[in-house]
Amino acid sequence: MAAETWAGISDELRREVGDSNHKSWIEPLECIEIRDEVLRLRAPSRFVGDWVKRNYHDQILAHLNRSGLGVTRLDFEFGAIRAKTPIPAVDAPRTRAPQDDTLQSAPLDAKLCFDNFVVGKPNELAHAAARRVAEGGDVTFNPLFLYGGVGLGKTHLMQAIAWELQDRRPDLQVLYLSAEQFMYRFVQALRDRQIMDFKNLFRSVDVLMVDDVQFIAGKDSTQEEFFHTFNALVDQNKQIVISADRAPGEIKDMEARISSRLQCGLVVDLHPTNYELRLGILQRKAALFSQSYGSIVIDNGVLEFLAHRIASNVRILEGALQRLFAFSSLIGQEITLDMVQDCLSDILRSSERRVTVEEIQRKVAEYFNIRLSDMLGPKRTRTIARPRQVAMFLSKELTSRSLPEIGRRFGGRDHTTILHGVRKVEEMRASDSQLNEDIELLRRLLAS
Ligand code: ADP
Ligand code: MG
Repeated sequence: MAAETWAGISDELRREVGDSNHKSWIEPLECIEIRDEVLRLRAPSRFVGDWVKRNYHDQILAHLNRSGLGVTRLDFEFGAIRAKTPIPAVDAPRTRAPQDDTLQSAPLDAKLCFDNFVVGKPNELAHAAARRVAEGGDVTFNPLFLYGGVGLGKTHLMQAIAWELQDRRPDLQVLYLSAEQFMYRFVQALRDRQIMDFKNLFRSVDVLMVDDVQFIAGKDSTQEEFFHTFNALVDQNKQIVISADRAPGEIKDMEARISSRLQCGLVVDLHPTNYELRLGILQRKAALFSQSYGSIVIDNGVLEFLAHRIASNVRILEGALQRLFAFSSLIGQEITLDMVQDCLSDILRSSERRVTVEEIQRKVAEYFNIRLSDMLGPKRTRTIARPRQVAMFLSKELTSRSLPEIGRRFGGRDHTTILHGVRKVEEMRASDSQLNEDIELLRRLLAS
């Protein structure tokens, strides 16, 4: 009786909260009983229960009252639930031959291991949490959410976890990939009608690590799928590690239910480096470079100078050092402060690299699979014209070139043609989410 009432209410709620919310929050609830004006529901986890209480409590009560049951309160229990849809056996997809080769992590960089990670105040907590996950023991916090600005070591820590786990727990399926790759695979699966395979694949891993998750914000279907994957794994008590460039709650266009779910484990930020950490990293890298460049030594004074002057991010610091070593070995002189001024003047001025119109054309042509010559040529078919307009749009956005200058680079077109292209893309973006995703992806490709 109570179960039937609940089923009816659940149905009505579906119309109100939408399919995906219903699936995430309402469907997992099980009605235990209605007694003494209390409806008792069982939620699969405290998280889900709390969320429902916070967000749907009044709505549920209203329905109950409309059905004249005189319920005044909802009570939640947590814990195991009768599986309504059977959860696929953990290792089922692994036994399916065609998928074996698709369960590949993005290639890991051998240098990004714990041994090469220098610990300092700004990153000690993140490092400790990463170490804990890398032990591969019981899941204590899920997910581990690492965030921080560019070049502060998020990817390094994630890959270090992956390496360590491969070592300690070769029995575990560890999947490391960027959110961008997650999206690529998802889009591909949709296109190839292999979505079930995709789901099974991602739900069969033991440890899932997704780097730069902010990338999928605003990409609705990808976000949605990520959310379901995430929930499925958490429910199976599989470890998840996520990184992003900012805190979960601050990621623009990330759905609230997703960002709140991302916060339910351990959220740790990597703080901007301080002088000591930068110097420590430089010393470590200098020692490594010294090995690979033979006998070149670098004075600690030079390292101190660099640690002072280049405060932006570790990647740039590393690049600067690399260049000094290369330069020194070329001209056969030791690295001095004078050399630093000469050799790194651009970095010291901290000028940023800018993309060119030509690079944009090349990347866009590649992305949409058309010839560069067609992009610049006169053809007007849609499959050519659309990518061309996207390239015009990105050229306007990402370079400081004027419209006539851009026109010249597009096979000598008039500036009004460029303007038209730019406007057209702006207009279409408002309603075409696929186009939006394409543009975002290209922006990222061009920035890297
Ligand atoms: P993020 O993913 O946060 O943008 P990365 O992990 O890619 O940054 O780090 C950028 C570069 O800086 C990498 O080469 C990485 O090895 C190096 N790096 C960052 N932090 C450290 C650290 N604490 N110790 C050693 N190297 C570091
Ligand atoms: Mg990174």
